[in-house]
Amino acid sequence: MSRLDHLNPPQREAVATLSGPLLVLAGAGTGKTRVITHRVVELIRNGVPPDRILSVTFTNKAAREMLERTKGLLGGRVKPAPIVSTFHSLCVRILREDAELLGYPGNFVIYDRGEQESVARTALRDVRVGDGALTPADLLNRVGRWKMLGIPPSQATEAVEDDLDFLAAVAYRKYQSKLRAVGAVDFDDLLLLVNQLFRERPEALDRWQRRFSHVQIDEYQDTNGVQFDFVEALVRPHQNLCVVGDDDQSIYGWRGADVAHILGFSSHFPKAKVVRLEDNYRCTHSVIEHANRLVRHNTGRHQKTLRAHKPGEDVRFLEFPDEKSEAEGVVREIAYLLGQENVAPEDVAILFRTNEQPRAFETELRRRQIPYDIVGTQSFFDRREIKDLLAYLKVVANPADEVSLLRIVNTPPRGIGNGTVQKVLARAVSAGKPLWDVVPEAIAAGEVPDRAAKGFRSLRSLLDGYRDRFQSNPRRLHDTVRSLVDDVGYSAEIERQYKSADQQLLREELLEQFFDTIREYTDRESRPSLIGFVETAALSLRDDFGSEDDKKKRAGAVKLLTLHSAKGLEFPRVYMVGLEEGILPHRRSVEDGSETAIAEERRLCYVGITRAENHLALSRATSRTKWGKRRPTIPSRFLFEMQSDEEIEEWEAAQQEAEEAAAEET
Ligand code: ATP
Ligand code: MG
Repeated sequence: MSRLDHLNPPQREAVATLSGPLLVLAGAGTGKTRVITHRVVELIRNGVPPDRILSVTFTNKAAREMLERTKGLLGGRVKPAPIVSTFHSLCVRILREDAELLGYPGNFVIYDRGEQESVARTALRDVRVGDGALTPADLLNRVGRWKMLGIPPSQATEAVEDDLDFLAAVAYRKYQSKLRAVGAVDFDDLLLLVNQLFRERPEALDRWQRRFSHVQIDEYQDTNGVQFDFVEALVRPHQNLCVVGDDDQSIYGWRGADVAHILGFSSHFPKAKVVRLEDNYRCTHSVIEHANRLVRHNTGRHQKTLRAHKPGEDVRFLEFPDEKSEAEGVVREIAYLLGQENVAPEDVAILFRTNEQPRAFETELRRRQIPYDIVGTQSFFDRREIKDLLAYLKVVANPADEVSLLRIVNTPPRGIGNGTVQKVLARAVSAGKPLWDVVPEAIAAGEVPDRAAKGFRSLRSLLDGYRDRFQSNPRRLHDTVRSLVDDVGYSAEIERQYKSADQQLLREELLEQFFDTIREYTDRESRPSLIGFVETAALSLRDDFGSEDDKKKRAGAVKLLTLHSAKGLEFPRVYMVGLEEGILPHRRSVEDGSETAIAEERRLCYVGITRAENHLALSRATSRTKWGKRRPTIPSRFLFEMQSDEEIEEWEAAQQEAEEAAAEET
């Protein structure tokens, strides 16, 4: 059998096009991801060194899946492995080598949202903005928008739209210099810094251009302008760029993604070859019919044909009196399938739009003892305990990291009270020095009580000691972290904080999971390092991922996912829940009311239904409790748009019957 037998003719054409710009523009489930996976294999078979092939995907999970698939196709014999990465991890990789060229330390740390907020808070304080005027979150939103547009602090004052914007622009400058002072970057900086590097350091750009001879990008419809500039620079000399995507699945407009990049690909790259795929291999006829009917309501989209090949059962529409019975009904059906029909739990996914939705489902799943796995809400790395431990590791890796230091300076308590911290901090700010540097001065000036001075000294020597240990023995990362956690007395702290045995156990389990994550990291990496682990954790957080490496847990568990995190994935059975106005489409978009806002929700709905391989059920509750009050809901407009006339007639008839029955009862 030839190696291209598992591909249809247009897929084969795309896979065989190994050089020059190539665009695969096609609907959901038509094998776009399959094309780029096979293309890696084809490139390798044609003599391209695997580590010069760069594939960019949207999430860490997608990256991992692609690597697995490539290994599968090549029989697991590829060394070095091809590079599969998200935009963010790729930028980290580049900056680890080159950050110093931009005046950043090579061991820079990445700040997560919470850490960003504390920097934003001090920046606002410095420019004397009262709390009411601009919150740290407001500031970060504005800063995020500027960064997405590639606007640096020096130019932000020119881009202001109102007075608050002006304050924000001034605070943006402070915020950025604070990050820089402690050797930290935020997520948006990663891309901006790489773009700056490529602009200002032609020799570095040249090096990276040589490093990757072929670049491919999945889910290209969701790239933003900064990402586009980055890719364009990287492939400039050879133009070996293959992008695949579907404009109907663009769901990150709110993060600055712009479908114009995929629709305008041929004008940016006039020599581009364009391949269209029209056969959907994933979903049943019925799913595709509904998906096509739905997405036709969006204007300004690229006309595409999507043909289904799989027969199968019809899409089902379920209605429940309230959100509790929605969860009960869906989970009861899942329990039946697992128990009586031998359905594997991992073949079932429940998809939801908002973070309030999964709680009822979790409760039901737990009650019936069905293992489940939740993606896209509060993540493992977002738990307080895990953040504490990560903060320790960050300070060890980068002593200048003030936000992390402040988090752990008195956790567990070591006699350093808040008043002392504030005094030392004020001294550091006025001297413009790092916190650690002014501690001895503050002690000498009698600003630090004896107990606190002792606390500072012991923390300092603990951190310094561990810095050496981590450096001299990176392979033993896992053991070193364990011993650090012991030395810090973190378990005793948990016992002090949580009185109930259950609560304590839960936290201890979290710590164990944390150690597992480190072990998995060291097993996976050829050159593990403390900073490497810290950044893996930071990047996982960004992708809304829990302890995702825990494969044992993943198989054998029902999946609960947000629609955003379901992108690119597929499941034999899908339950999409809460099809109500205000949930899908989201309340914000309904209130906004603009066609663009609703169109993005419609695409999100389209992404959701096209995840289903064999069975799709869409549900809604006819009433829902919000702010303590039960209110009737309005069916999602998407339900009307996706159903056929006959389906809608049947639905209306059923509704009328129910109303009559209810009237008779009273
Ligand atoms: P999405 O738009 O959701 O990202 P996609 O276009 O990337 O989807 P894939 O995930 O690559 O689609 O493929 C969808 C499914 O169809 C997968 O299960 C894949 O294995 C299967 N498939 C793709 N091409 C073929 C083919 N030529 N023959 C049989 N199955 C195929
Ligand atoms: Mg895909």
